[in-house]
Amino acid sequence: NTFAEIDLGDALNLNIRRCKYVKPTPVQRHAIPISLAGRDLMACAQTGSGKTAAFCFPIISGIMKGNFPQRPRGVRTVFPLALILSPTRELSVQIHEEARKFSYQTGVRVVVAYGGAPINQQLRELERGVDILVATPGRLVDLLERAKVSLQMIRYLALDEADRMLDMGFEPQIRKIVEQMDMPPPGERQTMLFSATFPKEIQVKVRMASDFLSNYIF
Ligand code: AMP
Repeated sequence: NTFAEIDLGDALNLNIRRCKYVKPTPVQRHAIPISLAGRDLMACAQTGSGKTAAFCFPIISGIMKGNFPQRPRGVRTVFPLALILSPTRELSVQIHEEARKFSYQTGVRVVVAYGGAPINQQLRELERGVDILVATPGRLVDLLERAKVSLQMIRYLALDEADRMLDMGFEPQIRKIVEQMDMPPPGERQTMLFSATFPKEIQVKVRMASDFLSNYIF
């Protein structure tokens, strides 16, 4: 009933109190426990429902508590542990701002990359290291082609406003991105798909749910 009852780790619980969040919203109440239990999920949630926290909290908590293999250092490619894909620059910036508040003093670093803006500043931010990458699909494909980012270590994938990404024609980019994660160790990646519209549409239209999620909970 309250965030204090959910063990997300001390630093994250403190940040949640700083944000003055006391009670989880419905999507948070349902999604966070599923995600903490390690299951894939699909959630139907509108803007304003608190979905950003619903996918950020388990990701930040998981990275804080997780025991991950050493990531290569000193190379010009970065290896994020989590990827949050969103359809637009505006939404990516919003998610980045929220995720930074949630990850304050946790040691978890969040970086954003979106198209329609010079890439150099984003590259510099990436080169300083990244645990959670928030990105629009087109810019991320660009970064992958430049070998600036590797998705080999991704353990958490969140697709935000998946229906809108499809409507905007991002399906090929999303498939390309997800393909790059389909590497060993298998079964260690957790996926969360958020969509505002009726889930059937997303299932029928591109079989996105069945392609990207494994044994998921709705
Ligand atoms: P979102 O749907 O993620 O865009 O969130 C909508 C707004 O609700 C944002 O301003 C959040 O900061 C706020 N919010 C999210 N979860 C909570 C919560 N559990 N308690 C109070 N405010 C919240």
